[in-house]
Amino acid sequence: MKIVEFDENGQQVIRDSGSLSSKNSGSRLAPRPVFSRSAESKPQRSRRSTSSGIELHMFQTGTLKTKTKYIKMNQGEEDFEIPVPWFLIKHPKGNVVIDGGNAAEVAVDKRGYWGDVVDAYDPVMESKENCVDQLKLVGVEPHNVRFVLQSHLHLDHTGAIGRFPNAQYIVQRSEYEYAFNPHWFATGAYIRADFDRPGLNWKFLGGEFTDNYDLFGDGTIRMIFTPGHSVGHQSFLINLPNTGKVLLTIDAAYTMDHWENKALPGLVVSSVDAVNSVKKLHQIAKDTGALIVTGHDPENWATFRKSPYDFYD
Ligand SMILES: [Zn+2]
Repeated sequence: MKIVEFDENGQQVIRDSGSLSSKNSGSRLAPRPVFSRSAESKPQRSRRSTSSGIELHMFQTGTLKTKTKYIKMNQGEEDFEIPVPWFLIKHPKGNVVIDGGNAAEVAVDKRGYWGDVVDAYDPVMESKENCVDQLKLVGVEPHNVRFVLQSHLHLDHTGAIGRFPNAQYIVQRSEYEYAFNPHWFATGAYIRADFDRPGLNWKFLGGEFTDNYDLFGDGTIRMIFTPGHSVGHQSFLINLPNTGKVLLTIDAAYTMDHWENKALPGLVVSSVDAVNSVKKLHQIAKDTGALIVTGHDPENWATFRKSPYDFYD
């Protein structure tokens, strides 16, 4: 397996994992601040690969400048800047991307690509923050991505679609169908150019009938149906050999306030479903003791180890 390290001058060095010196093993790096950008800070050493080959990498495609009310329903006009997270899971059976953040085009012409929705959610994204280029920093080339899992198809989650020629793209069927014909209040959240692409290898899941879909059949990645924020939203329960369970709520809980039943999401198709989905995830968290990763909470996100500097194993 290829590993990216950084030498004393911050230069990127790609090595086989077997050639790494043992002094790097097991080091835990301090969490990086949420708004740090790779161009402004000297990269730190990556940790060595684990023998299981299962790793969870946390990335972001910059941030969105918005207002509190657009994230926490009816809760204020003040400015609120949120991270746009996405994830990679390295697994012996193949690399898996979850969501991929914003499309690369957003860094070039945000209003041209997203339209007037930038007035409510203004993306702050550098070109090099697209998911394809960031994956290369941890040794993953586009042809080596086997699955792309879509939590849902809102515009800050669709950056991976169509970028990986050998990937199967997995989404809830209801979400895919809704994305082509959303209600008036949700139209700005769907960018058809992201998901309406020819020749994609889609796999559609069936809501409660396929709930807890186990991607590799070994419990590493389970897909949990959590509608409410969107029609076919799903969350992910990741099981890592050393870290244990990690629950990626994605937008089933935008923020810890949403997780703690103190707020509803600013964008919602069913408040009742959204609340029930949080309740469902609470039970899973209680049963598993999972680390909770919410969808867009700046403070919660700042506590995690980020790629390409560090990862979870
Ligand atoms: Zn969303």
